[in-house]
Amino acid sequence: MNCERLKIVVRGAVQGVGFRPFVYRLAAELKLKGSVSNSAQGVFIEVEGAHDCLQRFRSRLEKERPPRAVIQSLESSFLDAVGYGRFEIRETETGGAKTALILPDIAPCQDCLKEIFDTKNRRFRYPFTNCTNCGPRFSIIEALPYDRANTSMKKFAMCTECDREYNDPLDRRFHAQPNACPRCGPQLQLWDENGAILSEGDDALLLSADAIRAGKIVALKGIGGFQLIVDARDEQTVSRLRERKHREEKPFALMCASLKTVCGICQVSELAERLLVSPESPIVLLSAIPNHLPTGPPIGRTHLATSSDKSEIAQSVAPRNPNLGVMLPSTPLHHLLMHELDFPVVATSGNLSDEPICIDEQEALERLRGIADIFLVHNRPIVRHVDDSITRIMCGRELVLRRARGFAPLPIAVKSGQPNPLSTILSVGAHLKNTVALKIENNVFVSQHIGDLETEQAFGAFQRAAADLARLYDAKIDFVACDMHPEYLSTKYASELSAPKTEVQHHWAHVAACMAENEMHAPALGVAWDGTGYGLDGTIWGGEFLLAGNHGSFERVAHLRQFRLPGGDQAVKEPHRSALGVANRIRKKH
Ligand SMILES: [Zn+2]
Ligand SMILES: [Zn+2]
Repeated sequence: MNCERLKIVVRGAVQGVGFRPFVYRLAAELKLKGSVSNSAQGVFIEVEGAHDCLQRFRSRLEKERPPRAVIQSLESSFLDAVGYGRFEIRETETGGAKTALILPDIAPCQDCLKEIFDTKNRRFRYPFTNCTNCGPRFSIIEALPYDRANTSMKKFAMCTECDREYNDPLDRRFHAQPNACPRCGPQLQLWDENGAILSEGDDALLLSADAIRAGKIVALKGIGGFQLIVDARDEQTVSRLRERKHREEKPFALMCASLKTVCGICQVSELAERLLVSPESPIVLLSAIPNHLPTGPPIGRTHLATSSDKSEIAQSVAPRNPNLGVMLPSTPLHHLLMHELDFPVVATSGNLSDEPICIDEQEALERLRGIADIFLVHNRPIVRHVDDSITRIMCGRELVLRRARGFAPLPIAVKSGQPNPLSTILSVGAHLKNTVALKIENNVFVSQHIGDLETEQAFGAFQRAAADLARLYDAKIDFVACDMHPEYLSTKYASELSAPKTEVQHHWAHVAACMAENEMHAPALGVAWDGTGYGLDGTIWGGEFLLAGNHGSFERVAHLRQFRLPGGDQAVKEPHRSALGVANRIRKKH
C-alpha cells in the first residue's frame, strides 16, 4: 500500500466543542494513524494511510463535525508519510499567533439536562453541570489557548471521577474545561443583604425559590453577571423593583420554565421557537397574547396593549407595550430554579439603570444594596460581564438587537479585498449601545454589548472590554477607528491610545458594517435612519442616504432637511427640543 500523510489545519470555533475526540473517533473508524493537537491558532491534524482513505477522512471531517463546531477555514496538504505507529491526541501546543476563536457561553445540552434531573446520576440537581457541547466559555476564559488552567475553573481541582471523564477521549466530557461535579466543583450560597451566609448548596436554591414566591427581590449570580429575579405576576414586587432600580418604563425581560409557558403568554412562531430553544438561548421579543379577547381576529394594537391582557403577567413588567421579551433557562442553575417555580419570573440585569451588570459577589453587595433582598451566589468567578442577548423576528428573519451571551465574541469574517488586509484595527464604537470590535486579518471579533457610555461604571466597562479583546488575542493595534463626534467618550479614549486614529462618519460606519455582515460590495445604497450621527460638516444628521463607492469611499446622495437642535445631544433625549427646532424652521420660512 502506498502510504501518504495528510496535514490539516482547521480554524474556527473548534476548541471546546468535542472536536478532537471526534477527530480521534473518525481516524479510528477509518484505521488511520497520526495525531491531533490544539494550539492557539486552531486544530492541527495529521493522518497517514492510503490516498483514498485520506480523501474520505477530509470530507467526513467537514460533513460530520460536532454540532457546535464552526469551521472557518480548512487547509490541507498531502505529504510523505513519517511512519506514525498509532493515532494520538497530543497535548496543547503553546506559542504562535493567537487567532483561535473563543466560543460564547452555551445553554445546557439535552444530555446534561437529563443528568441534573436524574435522581440516580451523580450530577443530580448540580447547577454547574456542563460538557464539551455546552456550558460557560467566554465568561470564564482568562487567556488562550482554552485550557482549564486559563479559565476561572483553575481553582477547582477535579475529583477522580471528573478527571477520568476529562481524560477519556470517548467521554462526552473529554477535555471539557469547566468539567465539575457536586464533589469537586463550584457551590451555591445564599447571602443576606450584608453578605452573611443563610444557607448553602441545594438548600440555598430552594430557599431562593421560596423567597421569590414570597415577593422578595433575589439577586442571582448567573453565567455572565448578576440578574434580579422576581415573581412576574406580582404587581407590587415588580413596581418595587422598578423603583429601586430607577428604571421608569423600559420593559423587563421574563424567564419561563418551558416553551409551553411561553406559548401561554405570547404568540410563538416557528422561527421564534427555534430561537428560544437554541444554544444561544437569547431573550426573544414576542407579541403578548391578549387574555380576554373574544375568539376571532385581534382588534388591534391598542387593544393588545391594555393592562389585563398579559394574562397573569403584572402590568408594570412592560407598561403600554404590546410585546414581551422572554427567554428560557440558559444554565443548569436557571433550569433548577425555574423547575421549583410554576410561574414566569422577571429576570433583568443586576444593575442600577445605565450601569453595567455586576459580576462579582462582593461588588454586587455594594452596588445592589437597597435593590436586592437576598443574594444567590456561587464561587466560580466570572471573568467578564456578558449580558443576556436580545433578539426579535422581523420579515421572517432573526435580528439580534443586543449581541452578548450565546453570540459574543464570535467574529464576522470579512472577505478579501478589504483595505489594509493585514492591519489589526481596534474599533471603539459610538456613545450609545456601545460595543467594541477588533479586526485581525479576516476576522472582526465583536465584543459583548457594553451599553450607553453615560456613567463612570459604563465607561470603565468599555475600557476593560477594549483592553480585554486586544489582550486575549495578543493583538498589536495598527489603527484605532472611532466616531467623528469629538465629545464621545469612546472618541476621547481612542485619542489617548498610541496607535494612529482613523475617524469614521457615524452613518457610514452603520452602512459599512451592514455591507460587511451581508457580504455586499460597492456600489451599494445605504439608508441610515439613526438617532443622530456627527456629519462630515459637523452637523448632527438624523437620516442620510449614502452611496458606497470603491475602497471604502462614500458619497451622500440625500438627507433629511436640517433644523436647529436646541441643546445639541440633549435634544435626542428631550424630543420637545427638536420640535421647537422644527417649529422655528417653519416659522422662519413663512
Ligand atoms: Zn452538555
Ligand atoms: Zn468531580
